[in-house]
Amino acid sequence: MTGLATDRLIKPHGGDLVDRRGERPPSLDSLECVTLTAREVSDLDLLACGALSPLQGFMGQVDYERVVEEMRLGSDLPWALPVCLAVERAPSGDEVALADERGRRLAVLEVQEVYEYDRAREAERCFGTTDDEHPGVARLLAQADHYVGGKVTVFERPEPEFPELAKDPAETRRTFAERGWRRVVGFQTRNPIHRAHEYLTKGALETVDGLLIHPLVGETKSDDVPAETRVECYRVLLEHYYPADRVVLSAFPAAMRYAGPREAIWHAICRKNYGCSHFIVGRDHAGVGSYYGTYDAQLIFDEFEPHELEIEPMFFEHAFFCRRCGQMATPKTCPHEAEAHVFLSGTKVRELLAEGQLPPEEFSRPEVAEVLIAAYRA
Ligand SMILES: [Zn+2]
Repeated sequence: MTGLATDRLIKPHGGDLVDRRGERPPSLDSLECVTLTAREVSDLDLLACGALSPLQGFMGQVDYERVVEEMRLGSDLPWALPVCLAVERAPSGDEVALADERGRRLAVLEVQEVYEYDRAREAERCFGTTDDEHPGVARLLAQADHYVGGKVTVFERPEPEFPELAKDPAETRRTFAERGWRRVVGFQTRNPIHRAHEYLTKGALETVDGLLIHPLVGETKSDDVPAETRVECYRVLLEHYYPADRVVLSAFPAAMRYAGPREAIWHAICRKNYGCSHFIVGRDHAGVGSYYGTYDAQLIFDEFEPHELEIEPMFFEHAFFCRRCGQMATPKTCPHEAEAHVFLSGTKVRELLAEGQLPPEEFSRPEVAEVLIAAYRA
């Protein structure tokens, strides 16, 4: 896919964009079938389109072991989280069909190996905890006993939840190239964007050519704000407050793992595949509960050599409106006391919205708050 125009963008992780889309094989109906969880279907879709380049399928044991222990693939390339397929028992044939929970066949996996794994060790290394209250750990502990590794060929992709926002890495790269962008910052989000996020995305955009707002729309915890409400918030925010020719809004079809620091690395590598040269890492990126320190997701980038990931993380502090400064600021840029800052807890914001009240304009854009109020009242 690499034309001259996209050559100016950052290269995919490992050098080439993987494409595991292919034809439905004639033998499909005779193959043993493995049913994937929603998270595994998300991973399969990311594999199909190259978002997980250089991975060509679910991980074999060498990659898995090194990723868990050293955050590297067998090839030494940095990689932060396992991308594995759990099965009850070894498949009988060399190939298996992969189906979603409705029984629709999506792909074929060439069975390269089947191996056992230690759930507690994976939880401790990747999530930093074995507490089954942690949603990522709970899912891991509930998985089947073996992993099956091998290349996938995907012939049926899940319908995107937001078709107009579905852009594969090849497409975002083409869009960036058409706009003449070379340096693009990616912003991962799974929450509505309030002024604080607007401030840091615009701060980042000041230093590069373009901004990719890339909300995660795969499976999240049930108490996160529903994807369709979030997407509507992004739309109204972009319409009213961002220059259209500097921003691309697209959905990132991954499922949340809630692995905090390791997921920040993983999210950055995925966005590199989408063509981002920079990636915003805020406080408690991909965290959940109080499992991770506020800045752990930023500090973990130090475990790699400078520029080894090639995509550059951009670290941001918590932002707020300061009445003394008369503008948005962070502890890095504002010397004033907390009393001067417009601060609302998440709980307070939810209370206001549920009562149909707009939060202060220094905290939320009214257009965004209106969308949230409507969603709370639905
Ligand atoms: Zn100030």
